[in-house]
Amino acid sequence: MATSGVRGKKLGGLGQWWGVLAGALLIAAWINKAAGPVVIVLLSSGVLLWCFFQAPVTCQAEVRGRTDGCRNNASGLLLGCHIRQHRWQKLKMLVVRRQVRAFCSGLFSDGKATVVTLAGLGSFASGLAAFIPGLADK
Ligand SMILES: [Zn+2]
Repeated sequence: MATSGVRGKKLGGLGQWWGVLAGALLIAAWINKAAGPVVIVLLSSGVLLWCFFQAPVTCQAEVRGRTDGCRNNASGLLLGCHIRQHRWQKLKMLVVRRQVRAFCSGLFSDGKATVVTLAGLGSFASGLAAFIPGLADK
């Protein structure tokens, strides 16, 4: 029983990156058009949700006395880390304070954030493109 717990933890670490796997499947679905537009839309929205609410990026919430902000792992581009004040910091920044530019600069702040942001943009574009007749189907 004790070993299964360890294995679960390992899978949990990898499981955070399922969005990348879905992204790879999405690319495969575009190359091999047998999948069809429905599969593409489903995969696209899956990847998009992952980028927004699950992707393992850095929190970056403002911390007094630190220029680089909070370094904890956050869940997704729209949410912060486990600290309660950080959790909704980015959504608040967008919705309440309208700091769109500050939010956007955080999207490319490091390698992980850039990968997740690009995956989000790509899946968003692919989700839209799937609705264009003749593009996603044969
Ligand atoms: Zn934080």
